[in-house]
Amino acid sequence: MGYGLRAGDICLMQNDYLLDGKLIFSREEEVKIEDVDPDPKAPGLKYVVRSKTSGSRFRLSGRDLKRKFCPECGALLISLGNNCPECIWVVPGKEDLFGRKTVPGSPRSHGSGVI
Ligand SMILES: [Zn+2]
Repeated sequence: MGYGLRAGDICLMQNDYLLDGKLIFSREEEVKIEDVDPDPKAPGLKYVVRSKTSGSRFRLSGRDLKRKFCPECGALLISLGNNCPECIWVVPGKEDLFGRKTVPGSPRSHGSGVI
């Protein structure tokens, strides 16, 4: 995941990215964040990167990108890891994906009582 990215950060594409059937970015392709500029209609699309194949700039979401380097210590991040191999930095956004069950909400009844 590439949440909290800034202009100048180097990322890898999470997946192939197609537009009208044409490959704009390919999986594991290295891209540089040129700007952070949310799309007014889709604020999640905010990381501006340039396609090497089309030459155009596109807004991508953090979901499309993953960091290549640790923002804390600069270590190369291992593809499958969710944290830095060199320091305690953890990829932000992980909680969003896996922590939904713990989001506070209305009390849930569990048979004998409410927890
Ligand atoms: Zn680190």
